[in-house]
Parts: sequence; C-alpha cells; structure tokens
Amino acid sequence: MIFARHKTRSRMAYKPAGASPVQRASMRYSLRRWSVEHARFLEKIYTLFADMLLALHWLWSLIGYRRIERPMLFLERNIKGLMFDCRMCGQCILSQTGMSCPMNCPKALRNGPCGGVRAGGNCEIETDMPCVWTEAWRGAQQMQGGDSILAVQKPVDQSLKNTSAWLRATAQRAAQNAVKAGIKA
Ligand code: SF4
Repeated sequence: MIFARHKTRSRMAYKPAGASPVQRASMRYSLRRWSVEHARFLEKIYTLFADMLLALHWLWSLIGYRRIERPMLFLERNIKGLMFDCRMCGQCILSQTGMSCPMNCPKALRNGPCGGVRAGGNCEIETDMPCVWTEAWRGAQQMQGGDSILAVQKPVDQSLKNTSAWLRATAQRAAQNAVKAGIKA
C-alpha cells in the first residue's frame, strides 16, 4: 500500500516541462550560448558602446535622462533580450559574469552557483540547461576583465527592474568623472 502510494507520487514528481528556456525559446537560447562563447568580442563591443554613450552624456542631459529612458529601454530590452535572454533587472553585471546573465538562474543567484550543480554542469532545477554560472565561468576565462567574476555582487534592487542599465551606468560614469575633475581642479 505504502509502496503503491510512493509509486504514484514519484510518477507525479515535479517536472519543469515547458518551463525550461531550452524548450521555451531554443533560438534565443542558442544565441545566449553564442554570446558566452564570444564573450571577449562582446566585451570589446560593449566597451566601445559604453564609451560612446558616455561621450553623448551632454546630449542625454540636454534631452533629459528621463525622456530618453523609454527609447533606450526599448533598444536595450530587444538587443539584450535577443543576445542574453535579459530579464531587465536594471543593474547589469554581464561584463562581470562572462556575458552569461545571472537572472536566468532559476534561483536568480548573482554570486556564483548553488550547491546543486549536476555532475555534467547542468542546473539542478532546469536539468536540460547548463548552469548559468558554469557558463559564466567559461565566458569569463576569455575576457580581459574576467577576474571581475570574483567580485561580490550586491543584492538585486527590485525597484530598478525594467529600467535602463545602460543609461544608469552612463550617468554613474559621468558623475564619477565629474568628481575626479573636481578633485583635480
Ligand atoms: S544582469 Fe540584468 S540587465 Fe544584465 S542581462 Fe541580466 S537581467 Fe539583463
């Protein structure tokens, strides 16, 4: 009797069918893995792009960061959504995680993997998906700033969700430059 009940329960065991990003969007998932494989190349592109955004800080200030937020958000959501399966957390750390988005971890861990990574390097929850942190390590090995994967990340600030990380990083860099210029003057 107990055995029969156990058998029924194991047949009903949790199965993340249809929930896995691999099944949900295989095309997007392939691009996500491509991005990790080309992390060094994307790091260079992002550095150029971030510098360009910073050079245009005067323009964003003139238009107003608030006004430019919507079109920038549209661009960021679509480009990063396609390339990294971005979840728009608004506080991007891709350049520190080998171009593997930590928000794709089912537990949303931002400081390395949990203890449940499977022997082959797959996720313990979405078993057909490589752990985003084994991917992150792989990507970081190729990157010039790959050691930054060791930096301790702050907890996610949920109030920043669905805001532009690109604009925030630009405004922060501009403010840091202004402080430096003020100190030198
Ligand atoms: S860390 Fe955040 S902003 Fe960056 S790709 Fe992942 S969800 Fe998007």
